[in-house]
Amino acid sequence: MVVVIDNLKERPRHPEKQSNADSPLLRKPDWIRVKAPGSPEYARTRNIVKTHNLVTVCEEAACPNIGECWSQRHATFMILGEICTRACAFCNVSTGVPLPVDADEPARVADAVVRLGLRHVVITSVDRDDLEDGGAEHFARTIRAIRQVAPDTSIEVLTPDFLRKEGALENVVAAQPDVFNHNLETVPSLYLNIRPGARYFHSLRLLQRVKELDARIFTKSGIMVGLGETRNDIMQVMDDMRAANIDFITIGQYLQPTRKHAPIDRFVSPDEFDAYATTARAKGFLMVSATPLTRSSHHADEDFKKLKAARASAIR
Ligand code: SF4
Repeated sequence: MVVVIDNLKERPRHPEKQSNADSPLLRKPDWIRVKAPGSPEYARTRNIVKTHNLVTVCEEAACPNIGECWSQRHATFMILGEICTRACAFCNVSTGVPLPVDADEPARVADAVVRLGLRHVVITSVDRDDLEDGGAEHFARTIRAIRQVAPDTSIEVLTPDFLRKEGALENVVAAQPDVFNHNLETVPSLYLNIRPGARYFHSLRLLQRVKELDARIFTKSGIMVGLGETRNDIMQVMDDMRAANIDFITIGQYLQPTRKHAPIDRFVSPDEFDAYATTARAKGFLMVSATPLTRSSHHADEDFKKLKAARASAIR
């Protein structure tokens, strides 16, 4: 049996998964190749993250794109600590009892945005079911702190679902991020196994509500494939997303973080991703990213420019 230990704290990263059966880690196919970390720019990004005492989802989720993104000074900040109160079967973020909210974090994120010279920043967080507002006010404070020191930087939030947190979504929307992203993660039939603490229709409704509250905000959502879903399942998710007025869909290959996580059902081929992208465009999404290495925040900077251009040409 393999137990993954969080070196710093000498505790398992995922205590709730320790009794899961081990699933062998499959060899990645040739089409999943990533840039190795190690360039001078990568080191510079890492230095800024560390000296500002910040957490990134790039590291916590063991994202395969970190070599590429950090070499371009693009890091996705994870606020509200590094311990999540949920226990999704696909996710590498540590689970357990989180620490109190760090009130200085918004200012440190804002300073890091300036130091990195970001034109577009993505802010995400762990789930904080322990907080009365799910961390919504901390998101809003972080948005405001960035706006103060970097008014030209566009801001994308990738939030939790704020399940049973009344007024939380409204608080984040009132802070006016440019892009509101919340991932559906998988198809509804797999929720119980893959995302047991969440509710598919709640997540969809959250995104629909963002548009109702402020139609200027772009909405974005993503799913992983290769978890056992069918093509029809994905067609349903696309239709549901369009019915909720979601602008931008991302579809990427699920990669199993450890032997204790949900096993990969299969590697979806690049041709299948292309077919999903074609279908999604035909269904009317303003933007589509569907490749094996697509992640919510991958190329978010360029994608934001394309989103704006797509909206401008749609209303001409
Ligand atoms: S794709 Fe997103 S999470 Fe992954 S390294 Fe890039 S910015 Fe970080």
